[in-house]
Amino acid sequence: MTRNPAPDDLAQRIRAGDRRALAKGITLVESGRADDRVAAIALLTALGTDRQALRIGLSGTPGVGKSTFIESFGLMLTGQGKRVAVLAVDPSSARSGGSILGDKTRMDYLARDPLAFIRPSPSQTQLGGVARRTREAVALCEAAGFDIVLIETVGVGQSETMVAQMADLFVLLLAPAGGDELQGVKRGIMEMADLILVNKADGDLKSQAMRTCADYAGALRLLRKRPQDPEDFPKAMTVSALEQHGLAAAWDDMQHLANWRRDTGIWDEVRLAQVSYWFTEDVRQGLVQLLESDPALQDAMTTAKAQVLSGKLAPSVAAAQVLAALKGLAP
Ligand code: GDP
Repeated sequence: MTRNPAPDDLAQRIRAGDRRALAKGITLVESGRADDRVAAIALLTALGTDRQALRIGLSGTPGVGKSTFIESFGLMLTGQGKRVAVLAVDPSSARSGGSILGDKTRMDYLARDPLAFIRPSPSQTQLGGVARRTREAVALCEAAGFDIVLIETVGVGQSETMVAQMADLFVLLLAPAGGDELQGVKRGIMEMADLILVNKADGDLKSQAMRTCADYAGALRLLRKRPQDPEDFPKAMTVSALEQHGLAAAWDDMQHLANWRRDTGIWDEVRLAQVSYWFTEDVRQGLVQLLESDPALQDAMTTAKAQVLSGKLAPSVAAAQVLAALKGLAP
C-alpha cells in the first residue's frame, strides 16, 4: 500500500457501510509494513468498539460443503434483511496459490448480494499474524454494521482453536460417514462445537446422514461444553446445504443459544475472557517482535547465545541477560 487515506476518513466511510472502504481497511490491517501498522492502529482507534455482530465460527474439512453451506445460509440470512460478512482463515494458505475463498465462483450468488461481504484469506500470511489479522477484520466488519460475521476455517486444530477464541458460536460441519469414522473427528474440535451439522442429508446420503447425526448426538452428550447452556446443547442435526434443508432450524438454534447466553450473562463473560486473552497475546507477540527487530537486543541475543553454545553460561542465565537488556529499553 503506497498511500493510506486518513484514518478518520476511512473509519467514517467504513461505519457508513462503504464496502470498498471496508475492503481497504482490511487490506491495511493485513499489511506487514510498519507504517501501515501505525495507520491500522489509528483506524481501529477511530472505529471504536460500540458495534457488535454475532460471530459464528464455521469449521469443516475440505469437501464437506462449507462454501455451499455459506452460500445457502448466507442467502437465507440476507433474504431476511440481515447483513452478512464472511471471512476465511487458512493459516497454511499454500493451497492452490493461497486463498480458500479465492475462487469466487464458490459463493457466486452471495458474493453478488449487496447485503453480503466476502473476504478471502490473503495469499501470504505469516503464521502468528493470522489471529490478529482475522480479529481485526472481524472488528472492521462489526464497525461496518454487519449483523453476522461468519469465520470459515479449514483445519486441523490450530485454526479452530483460534477461531473459537474469537467466535460467539462455533459450528462444525461434517459429512455423512460410516459408524467407525466418528473417531476421525478430533476430540478437541468436537469439544469446541456448539452445533454439529451433518451436511448432505439428501438423496442417497440421507439415511446415512441421520445415522451419523445420531452417533454424534450421543458423543456430544458426553462433552458438555458449558454447563450453563440450555440442556440440549451442544447439539447435532442434519442439513442439506445443496437442497437448503434444515438451515432455518439451524439458524433458530444458533439464535436460541446466543439469546440464552446473552440473558444469562455468559455472552459477556466469554467476550471479556476473549478480549483479555487477545490483549495478553498481542503484548506477548509485540515483545517477541521487539526482540527480533531491535539491533541492540539482537546483539544481546547473539552474544548471550554464543555464551550458551560455548558452555560459558547456562541457558537461563543468558536469557536473564537478554531480558535485562530489554528492561533497559523500557521508558
Ligand atoms: P468445501 O470444500 O467444504 O467448501 O465444500 P464445497 O461446498 O465446495 O462442496 C464440496 C462438494 O460437496 C461439492 O461438489 C458440493 O456440490 C457438494 N455438496 C455440498 N453440500 C452438499 C449437500 O448438502 N448435499 C450434497 N449431496 N452435496 C453437497
